[in-house]
Amino acid sequence: MNGAKAQGRAAGHSRLLRVDPVACDGIGMCAHLAPHLIEVDPWGYPVLTGHPLEDADARRATIALTACPRSAIFIEDRPAKIV
Ligand code: SF4
Repeated sequence: MNGAKAQGRAAGHSRLLRVDPVACDGIGMCAHLAPHLIEVDPWGYPVLTGHPLEDADARRATIALTACPRSAIFIEDRPAKIV
């Protein structure tokens, strides 16, 4: 990532992987598809890192959310805080 792009991401917005716990059925397919982003708890429900997605993570995150049979996982775009 070049400096201007990195600066724009930091100043503009961040992307977070999120899960809707009501919709999720806890089968854990997402964790198999993006194991470095998603772990599973002892009951099979996803546990997310909560860290903003880097560009290199976006492809895996998209594969995981596309494969989710319940459409329970999604990417949230968060605007930067105004200080
Ligand atoms: S693939 Fe979807 S339904 Fe299955 S554990 Fe992950 S978020 Fe939940």
